[in-house]
Amino acid sequence: MNNKLLLIILDGVPYRNFRRLFGNLEGWVDSGEARVWKLRSVLPSISASCYASIHTGVAPAEHGCTGNGNVFKLSHKDVFSQVREAGGTTGAVAHSFWSQFFNRHPFDYVRDIEYDEPDNATINHGRFHTMTGYGHDNQMTPSDVDLFGTLTNLCLRFGLNYGMLHTCTLDSMGHRFFHDCQQMDHACFVMDEMLAPFVTKWRQLGYEVIVTADHGQDERGHHGGRSALQQETALYYFGTAEGPDKDDVIDQRQLAPTILDRLGAPIADTMTAKPFLKKAKTQRPSLLWPAPDLERGSRRT
Ligand SMILES: [Zn+2]
Repeated sequence: MNNKLLLIILDGVPYRNFRRLFGNLEGWVDSGEARVWKLRSVLPSISASCYASIHTGVAPAEHGCTGNGNVFKLSHKDVFSQVREAGGTTGAVAHSFWSQFFNRHPFDYVRDIEYDEPDNATINHGRFHTMTGYGHDNQMTPSDVDLFGTLTNLCLRFGLNYGMLHTCTLDSMGHRFFHDCQQMDHACFVMDEMLAPFVTKWRQLGYEVIVTADHGQDERGHHGGRSALQQETALYYFGTAEGPDKDDVIDQRQLAPTILDRLGAPIADTMTAKPFLKKAKTQRPSLLWPAPDLERGSRRT
């Protein structure tokens, strides 16, 4: 497998927060480097159920994860298993639910906190955290720059074809402070500033990059049900493919087949939603993507 893609999931960011507060991502939309669409989550719009749907391409009613209290090893094929089937190398830097869903359950704090398993049928290189003890006043989240650095470390050391990063910082902030406040403005601003240099680096390393969230949050920091604020988030795409019209809304179940299509991996029979990206007829120029001569010779790092 020659193609490379990173999926960055910022937990619990409603559409309006992405579009209002993420100045670097929005600047790249203005410059033509990125494209952005609205994405609607599955129901229930709760974290674990959405993680499972993002990676299997099926709704919670089908994969069976009904919420954060019902996490188990899923039986459906997912993005990790399909990339492995095509000979690609996978990595994840994420909450431990991701390891439980797609590799092993229950989560063992020693065995599963960090693993490198080159022959594994799903996740080859995993770096996980559990947020054990999480509550209203104690977020128990790692610094996001540490997570971005860890993913980059895995990309450079192991040549990941597919890497997935998930961070709960903004979801926890939203539950604690809600959304119309200085704390939330600042938290989104900091996330955008921490993320931006890594996006540049990942593009220079040859990765397509998708930045999105699992679900939104409403004015009281709630999600789980059906409303635009709870279900709708943004999806930013950095890469050469063509996407739908700017006003189209992406269904969360389209993510898995889209990622696999971009990587050249087989789409599982259970993933029936249509990919939202397709190969471009002409390649768009990019300021972040290395020029052909740089790719062959003195690549910037
Ligand atoms: Zn979530």
